[in-house]
Amino acid sequence: TPSIVWLRDDLRVADNPALSAAVDRGGPVVVLYLLDEESPGARPLGGASRWWLHGSLAALAAELADRGAHLTLRRGAAGTVIPQLVAESGAGAVYWNRRYGALREVDAELKSRLRADGLDVQSFGASLLFEPWTITTGAGDPYKVFTPFWRACLAGDDPRAPLQPPERIEGLAVASDDLDTWALLPTRPDWAAGLRAAWTPGEQGAHARLEHFVEHGLPLYHRRDEPGIEATSRLSPHLRFGELSPHQVWARLRGPLAPAAIANRPKFLSEIGWREFSYSILFHQPSIATENVRRDFDAFPWQAPDPAVLEAWRRGMTGIPLVDAGMRQLWTSGWMHNRVRMIVASLLTKNLLIDWRVGEAWFWDTLVDADEASNAASWQWVAGSGADAAPYFRVFNPVLQAERFDPDQAYVRQWVPELGTGAYPRPIVDLAASRTAALAAYEVVKAAK
Ligand code: FAD
Repeated sequence: TPSIVWLRDDLRVADNPALSAAVDRGGPVVVLYLLDEESPGARPLGGASRWWLHGSLAALAAELADRGAHLTLRRGAAGTVIPQLVAESGAGAVYWNRRYGALREVDAELKSRLRADGLDVQSFGASLLFEPWTITTGAGDPYKVFTPFWRACLAGDDPRAPLQPPERIEGLAVASDDLDTWALLPTRPDWAAGLRAAWTPGEQGAHARLEHFVEHGLPLYHRRDEPGIEATSRLSPHLRFGELSPHQVWARLRGPLAPAAIANRPKFLSEIGWREFSYSILFHQPSIATENVRRDFDAFPWQAPDPAVLEAWRRGMTGIPLVDAGMRQLWTSGWMHNRVRMIVASLLTKNLLIDWRVGEAWFWDTLVDADEASNAASWQWVAGSGADAAPYFRVFNPVLQAERFDPDQAYVRQWVPELGTGAYPRPIVDLAASRTAALAAYEVVKAAK
């Protein structure tokens, strides 16, 4: 009988355990991508992610066609569409790679239903190096702090080696939506020119990016905090959509490297570790995009955003050069340098006292790497409401940060060319006074404890 491989955040043919298992089982394979905005817990993708998804699915369809298979596109709630597709295709097996957020409930329910109907249903670990439930403290609890979490990860067995892509996949043609009818790309206005210039979604683009980074970026990775140089990998959207697995990254980092790159390897791998840590937090609290991890933060006196101030933050018109550079980089290219993400998030949540969820939602809409675990966990980290959060009193000073990490203004000048002219706005907030107000607001949380 045919098998169905249901792809989600794993849009690749190499190192794809569910796909390989279906090919090994023998018989024709239906490779499905389901656009599911209806299942309980499904969060509709933001604009930049929709743009990425279109390119990634187009690239995946080409990879599959090269191997003899089709990409089947369907839309709707998984609990309805998958059983329909089983009936239509006469499938005897359904395989997928695991998810770790709220949608794993959908998967668990479907698995027991299909198994009750006699199907072979299996899920595989594919997008994390370490399954979250395997990394626990001596007492069996999840880690709340990154450093011991990552130490525990590294203390166990090495992650498995990546799987080779199947050479041939016997496809089974079933009815499929036409990708264009999903309207994932912007029409008017077409805001995606900067995204097209910056990125190549898909598995081949991901591997090219990894090789480029290993050669040029990794030897410079000790300077990863400087936004004006390209010292980081920019692999985040490729990892987010699973065009590349962390196992493949890990294996490549164990392969041939220049000496300057070897020195930076542990630090780079620990950043991959932060991704694992974010997923561990999500696994234990699927509501992290909406609820404070530290419940004492429920008492925090967030201010209702002034629409003009919020719009200035979103569009990079705050009059604070490093913040504006970051917000424009985000709007134009769908990505922002990590240190600058921390600085713009600190400005919003501390100097402007706007709820981190407002910032998280803007990032969700505009980042090509918008990730259900890393985005929410990072916002909570900056806001102070996360498990292993930056101490609340640590308010980034964007002026000092710019002096330190962008001393020659390479980054700021690139994104804010009108700096120093009359066209550039005056600061929307007094950094010193708003810092004092933020610390006073935090006293409310402390008092509520
Ligand atoms: P590199 O330094 O090359 O790191 C390699 C990979 O490690 C990244 O691709 C990413 O997958 C992972 N990684 C690195 N840093 C972190 C981190 N702090 N937390 C989790 N994973 C990390 N990252 C996302 O992937 N998606 C998001 O939606 C996201 N939202 C963020 C929001 C805020 C407010 C902040 C402060 C950080 C956010 N990050 C997010 C984390 C981080 O900024 C990005 O992963 C990183 O900038 C991606 O660039 P890179 O691939 O060049 O990173």
